[in-house]
Amino acid sequence: MPARLMDGTAFAAKLRERVKDGVDGLRRDHDLVPGLAVVLVGDNPASRVYVKNKAARTVEAGMRSFEHRLPANASEESLMALIAGLNADPAVHGILVQLPLPPQIQESAVLNAVAPAKDVDGFHPINVGLLATGKPGLVPCTPLACLMLAKEALGTLEGLDAVVIGRSNIVGKPVAQLLLTENCTVTVAHSKTRDLPAVCRRADLLIAAVGRPEMVKADWIKPGATVIDVGINRVDAAEAGKTRLVGDVDTLACASIAGAITPVPGGVGPMTIACLLVNTLRAACAGLGTQSPV
Ligand code: NDP
Repeated sequence: MPARLMDGTAFAAKLRERVKDGVDGLRRDHDLVPGLAVVLVGDNPASRVYVKNKAARTVEAGMRSFEHRLPANASEESLMALIAGLNADPAVHGILVQLPLPPQIQESAVLNAVAPAKDVDGFHPINVGLLATGKPGLVPCTPLACLMLAKEALGTLEGLDAVVIGRSNIVGKPVAQLLLTENCTVTVAHSKTRDLPAVCRRADLLIAAVGRPEMVKADWIKPGATVIDVGINRVDAAEAGKTRLVGDVDTLACASIAGAITPVPGGVGPMTIACLLVNTLRAACAGLGTQSPV
């Protein structure tokens, strides 16, 4: 039987509605409007599109969107001064510095300068530490998106064999930690893993975050497994001169073996932006000492 295709676009739309309800509640009960500040340094065209999309979704969810642009030759000091101002601004509950940054700016220094309570990307060492120790904090958006999709497909994840391919700090490691907190038995595979297909075949839940087009093949999949494809890879399309997006999973082939599978595009990607809004709402609620409804 073919796998259920998990519609990340539809799921993200529902999640954004829930965030909007939460935002409406904050405005009504606490006279507070959550605000998300996005900082863009330089004019990388892809980053410009991401920032525009994030701002549009933020406003749709009833939040305030603050966009700050610095030129490509901006100094680290000027970016640090901007972040210090946003850290102190009571109208700003979440701060996101769009990556990559130009070479004259040290990325880790900038990410460490964002106040942990406003770190909606979940990259600050304090939030990384909270996640690693299973304590509540702000969790990176793409890993949170993977967790929500996995729970949507499977309900409880307890006791499942989960395999995460990829061990980056922004996807692989935090996904693995979230799954451990959900009581999965987690294997983290990477470029030095021996016999990756055999490791993947053990997985009830397989999460691919590699950056290699359609690397995961049908005979790597345990029958009925849930497969979440984080990869975004641009490849040549059949039509000359055109390109298309594919994931890290050979979706068409794997769909005949898996129980549920996310498409690319339309899977993890839209959920990632929705999770940024979830994190902004959570940050605003935490500032009030209340529990976020989402
Ligand atoms: P990184 O390049 O930082 O990490 C890739 C990981 O894959 C590394 O751990 C690497 O292993 C591992 N890897 C590389 N080749 C192989 C191989 N042949 N076999 C097994 N493991 C391998 O990538 P990211 O984690 O940042 O991103 C991964 C993918 O997810 C990319 O396609 C990216 O575009 C996409 N992405 C999508 C997002 C979304 O919103 N949907 C958000 C963020 C990323 P090693 O550590 O040994 O080098």
